[in-house]
Amino acid sequence: MAERLARDLWRLDIPLAGNPLKNLNSYLLTGERSLLIDTGFRQQPCREAMERQLAETGVDRDRMDIFCTHLHSDHTGLAPELIRPGCRVFIGELDVPGLRNAADPAGWERRYREYVLDGFSREEMRELWGENPAQTAAPPWREGLYTALPDGAELRYSGRILQCVLTPGHTPGHLCLYDPEARRLFCGDHVLFHITPNICRWQGVQDSLGDYLKSLDRTAELDAAELYPAHRAETGDLRTRTAELKAHHARRLEDTLRIVGETPGLTAYEIAGRMRWSIRCRSWEDFPLTQKFFAVGEAMAHLDYLEVRGRVCRREIRGKRVYFAGAGDKI
Ligand SMILES: [Zn+2]
Repeated sequence: MAERLARDLWRLDIPLAGNPLKNLNSYLLTGERSLLIDTGFRQQPCREAMERQLAETGVDRDRMDIFCTHLHSDHTGLAPELIRPGCRVFIGELDVPGLRNAADPAGWERRYREYVLDGFSREEMRELWGENPAQTAAPPWREGLYTALPDGAELRYSGRILQCVLTPGHTPGHLCLYDPEARRLFCGDHVLFHITPNICRWQGVQDSLGDYLKSLDRTAELDAAELYPAHRAETGDLRTRTAELKAHHARRLEDTLRIVGETPGLTAYEIAGRMRWSIRCRSWEDFPLTQKFFAVGEAMAHLDYLEVRGRVCRREIRGKRVYFAGAGDKI
């Protein structure tokens, strides 16, 4: 059911069936024009929940724009079908190429070939094809549909100014939406509670974890009393959570470094298999394939961070990228 959080603000609870994220929080700012923040997967359960809850709010759909915090399909999937003529779909400008890529089978073929270099088997990649919601529940690409927003862009809804805050890391162009007057921060997947945002390697990005940690420092400076994360019901204090997330990645970097030091010559896939994960599975072999895909992506982001700082080095041996300890000593 749509939950009214304030006079001008609703939370729509969109289920993400079979996904460990469990749900997506869509937020609806109402006023002269309304703004829907994030949409859910292009899948029937999301579509039904969204349509039902939008109707409960009584929003005028012909005056409702959509803001996607980032390109992931659980945030953008339904945007093309929810939007009415004359309304706009906003997304961070640096996420537009990735959004176009997510709708392109050739882009996925390229990405999956890369993942074989990083240790996945060809069979796993074949199996993942058609099963990965990042691929199957993404919106079809529509030229001219999106209004690309740069860092610092301002939107006006509910009679107040909303500022776009570029927070790369989770995706290259992730935007938080900050309302300084109401001291609200719609944080997308940049800051989550109870679960930690997935940070993975992106094509064309050298160090997405380094970018993410910088983005955390940036948002920690904001004067925000209310945080609206995109997943789970929990919310909390921005600075406390920032410190926890930074500590989490520092531990994970140590963990990655230890694994590389103890067993030189492993692929990112094998390193991910030795890392500690909170998912409830008996062993790495039992991980659902889509979760392996995200786990290896996360391991690669940590390896990239360490590689940029000289702590590990990467070589290609017999068609696989493998890691060795480097000479640097700074994390
Ligand atoms: Zn996401």
